[in-house]
Amino acid sequence: MTLPLYELTIHDAKDLLDNQMVSSEDLTRAALDRIKQVEPSIKSFVTVTGDLALEEAKSFDQNPGVLPSSNLRGIPFQLKDNICTQDILTTCSSNMLSEFIPPYDATVVEKLKHSGGIIVGKGNMDEFAMGSSTENSAFHPTHNPWDLERVPGGSSGGPAAAVASGECFYSLGSDTGGSIRQPASLCGVVGLKPTYGLVSRYGLVAFASSLDQIGPITKDVRDCSIVLDAIVGHDPMDSTSIATVSNCYSKSLKGDVNGLKIGVPKEYFEAGVDKSVLDCIKESLLAFEKLGATVSEISLPLTKYALAVYYILAPSEASANLSRYDGVKYGYSYKDAGSIWDAMEKTRQNGFGPEVSRRIMLGTYALSAGYYDAYYVKAQKVRTMIRDEFSSVFNDYDVLITPTSPSTAFLIGEKTEDPLQMYLNDICTIPANIAGIPAISIPAGFSNGLPIGMQIMGNYFSENTILNAAYAFEQATEWHKMRPSL
Ligand code: GLN
Repeated sequence: MTLPLYELTIHDAKDLLDNQMVSSEDLTRAALDRIKQVEPSIKSFVTVTGDLALEEAKSFDQNPGVLPSSNLRGIPFQLKDNICTQDILTTCSSNMLSEFIPPYDATVVEKLKHSGGIIVGKGNMDEFAMGSSTENSAFHPTHNPWDLERVPGGSSGGPAAAVASGECFYSLGSDTGGSIRQPASLCGVVGLKPTYGLVSRYGLVAFASSLDQIGPITKDVRDCSIVLDAIVGHDPMDSTSIATVSNCYSKSLKGDVNGLKIGVPKEYFEAGVDKSVLDCIKESLLAFEKLGATVSEISLPLTKYALAVYYILAPSEASANLSRYDGVKYGYSYKDAGSIWDAMEKTRQNGFGPEVSRRIMLGTYALSAGYYDAYYVKAQKVRTMIRDEFSSVFNDYDVLITPTSPSTAFLIGEKTEDPLQMYLNDICTIPANIAGIPAISIPAGFSNGLPIGMQIMGNYFSENTILNAAYAFEQATEWHKMRPSL
């Protein structure tokens, strides 16, 4: 059976391009037609750049000699709308930036452009990346392609839904506490949060700078490694970015896990995780054993503090980062104010939605004189302990496997009234951000027609190891080939 073009992976599309069986224009039209067809029900985009994309695609087709070795050349992609794109609206799904057109490209965008990628648009998200369902977008919620009544996860819900429904071949998201992996899990696609510092964040609108990381959302693991190859690397514009030795993740995929030591931290399988998710991950662990890996239960007792640490650190950093939106420098500005102070107050009151205001208030409180030591400093200390705990288990284990999300996709509106319930969605993903280690979510099964994701975490800069483990599982299963019927 031949798949429609929009369902192809990056590597399949590249093969067809190389053999001149399709043109970049064909691929781009396939994505744009698919957007036209499903976008009214999915709503994963904030901006579609159709004309620009077609123009680019045609110019690649006319110059076939340009970048012949790139794996991404001529292939359409989307970007989460908190990644700056020169001359293209970048809103963070916020009224504060609803008219913001950056004068520059984020480093990852420059890199993808240099690889010959074709931008088809910008993906919807929770406002300023704060949320787990994309319902905090100031514009519209995004719908899960597997069940339109349900959320796609968040905050990169637009990117995950767009990849799952074939509106683009891949997308980039950002992950501060799980925002790449959790939506990937809920939409049945692959999402990787790289090691902190591996991918430049220059041009990513800051949420919580000690946690934010950009990473790929793709249809399979090979695609994930191809996109990672293109975006890694030291960037003098980001002081936290690190020079790496490897950008050959895709070449080193072997799919061999014989002798791999897998640790299964029991704390991730306790209260609050749905039975269908637990059963699915347990079955996946059996599949790993069959492939020759050893699986051992371990304990990471500090896991229970990760969520609390995150909800001190992330709002604290957000309150500092978001102080720049004052109506003076750029973005939305309240016009009829009596004084500059009044203008700032009204700008922030009207420009930010309720979740963003909540985070700013939490962060400002945690950082205020008298509370700073009790909350922020304490959280930093616990963070160091969590990091040390991970480092010590990686002396004995190559990877750790857990569920990505405690449940499958929930109904739109189900958790909006209860922020704490919403925060619990990230209980399995947040620890990797706290420690700065890499983690991937891959499709591992279904329950009642909804995808379940499995998380594989590894030591710092062990992307090769986790991608390889993920690839081995993928080769042995069919979950990544499932597509929603739309
Ligand atoms: N859902 C988490 C939050 O609301 C994580 C968000 C993210 O990773 N950007 O903060």
